[in-house]
Amino acid sequence: MYDDTNIFAKILRGEIPCKKVYEDDHTLAFEDINPEAPVHTLVIPKGKYTSMKDFSANASDAEIGALIRAVGKVAALKGVEDSGFRILSNAGDDAHQTVAHLHVHIFGGRFLGPMLTKK
Ligand code: 5GP
Repeated sequence: MYDDTNIFAKILRGEIPCKKVYEDDHTLAFEDINPEAPVHTLVIPKGKYTSMKDFSANASDAEIGALIRAVGKVAALKGVEDSGFRILSNAGDDAHQTVAHLHVHIFGGRFLGPMLTKK
């Protein structure tokens, strides 16, 4: 079940501010409030999808296409399309998803190291 009180739903409704990077009919991109790299931008769908599991099963082709296009546009806008960037979307408890509205992180601006920390 989608919870309308999550923080990204509030950003989409304009109830709390964000530093907007990009917007189109289906997506919004804004700066992460607690950046973990020189570039750390979040891309979210405007539709009410809890995670990639929900989005991949239930979003329209237009929404899915727009999200992927937005990732490329944001990478270009943030100046990391050639230097390199990483996208990441945490889904569910094992991935430590903390906001229950689908979001794709875009990291860049420095060498990002290996994909996952070793336990
Ligand atoms: P997750 O851990 O769910 O993959 O990522 C959630 C992200 O949302 C975190 O990187 C966190 O810093 C970011 N975040 C949480 N609250 C806010 C907020 O109010 N504004 C913005 N811009 N980012 C937020």
